[in-house]
Amino acid sequence: MIAPVHSLGPGERVCLWTQGCNRSCPGCISPELQPFTGSNADEQMLGEILLRTAEINACSGLTLSGGDPFAQPEALLRLLEHVRAGFADILVYTGFTLEEIRNGSCGKAGIECLGLIDVLIDGPYIDEQNTHGCVLRGSENQTIRYLNPKLAEDYETYLQKGRILETFSHNGSVVITGIQDRRELH
Ligand code: SF4
Repeated sequence: MIAPVHSLGPGERVCLWTQGCNRSCPGCISPELQPFTGSNADEQMLGEILLRTAEINACSGLTLSGGDPFAQPEALLRLLEHVRAGFADILVYTGFTLEEIRNGSCGKAGIECLGLIDVLIDGPYIDEQNTHGCVLRGSENQTIRYLNPKLAEDYETYLQKGRILETFSHNGSVVITGIQDRRELH
């Protein structure tokens, strides 16, 4: 978790990366987050940490990425239920498409999660479609889904800035947040 982040959505945001994804997209930006390793977090406790972090850093937005948050739909639902009231804008990345989630690929919990998310960026990462103009998205096939249409204008304004990268010192390592160009990844 890092905050305040400005490179993964409008305004000041708390960003959390979940561990675990089965998709194995070639060129994945975060292969270290693919294995389902580590201990399971208590969603209530994690939610409290997110809310407290938002308060300390004056963040009104939350970005969940991974891994794939929808690979653990029940845990995602419990977390979203806990933090929903504390954020004006919740953005979630997933390798599933919105249609797949609506059709039950992530179960009933996955469908319920959609009701607690403002913006979903969906679809698998396709390395060959990682173009510089793909702001907020890893590749052109991915789509920004405004589940809460009231936020569309803020996002469209934000997208005009182009891709943004930030560097943080985190747990003794240097972490880059934001969407990197393909040439920066390989
Ligand atoms: S969905 Fe995302 S985390 Fe999962 S393999 Fe693809 S790029 Fe990596």
